[in-house]
Amino acid sequence: MISESEGSEHGDRVCGKNSPENPGKSIPNHPTTRSSDSHESINDSVTQCRIGMGIDFHRLGKGRPLILAGVKIEHELGLIGHSDADVLTHALCDALLGAAGMGDIGTHFPDTDELYCGIESLKLLERVLALLAAAGYRVVNVDATLIAQAPRLTPHFPAMRTRLTEALHLSPDRIGLKATTSEGMGAIGRCEGIGAICVCLIERD
Ligand SMILES: [Zn+2]
Repeated sequence: MISESEGSEHGDRVCGKNSPENPGKSIPNHPTTRSSDSHESINDSVTQCRIGMGIDFHRLGKGRPLILAGVKIEHELGLIGHSDADVLTHALCDALLGAAGMGDIGTHFPDTDELYCGIESLKLLERVLALLAAAGYRVVNVDATLIAQAPRLTPHFPAMRTRLTEALHLSPDRIGLKATTSEGMGAIGRCEGIGAICVCLIERD
């Protein structure tokens, strides 16, 4: 992945949706040749979009609640972690922070800090959204996939989508939720843990 700190010319991608209103501000075919002046004018006149991705895994163990997207799911095992171990929300936080170039969830909420012991991960998401908002970003959409052999997760999607709709202030159609198994392969296939992958799009004017 190319980061802005590595001098990427592609760091500030722009959405095309505003281009009809800005006919003179079209994106150059070759970003490497555009001048700093044209770069500035693009940033000033059209929406900046950024994509982020996050991935997370947690072990399953006895005596823990299973919480995904803030929803408690009845299961004999729960995810182990410093917080509530909400693997989906953690992947989502990482995707959002990554899109904004703001590091990752471990940087902002270290698992060595007692402050975050047992914390509800939707509260961490709230703080991540505040960081993005302070930088002028809003979330366009998110798309998440859970990887779990058990339990079956799709019946819980309506409740999970409701929680995420509230947390992200997005309409339900902007929240993708999917689940898959690992076809019995590996640690997830042996029900030793659950994984989550999330991508998101954020934008600012
Ligand atoms: Zn995590």
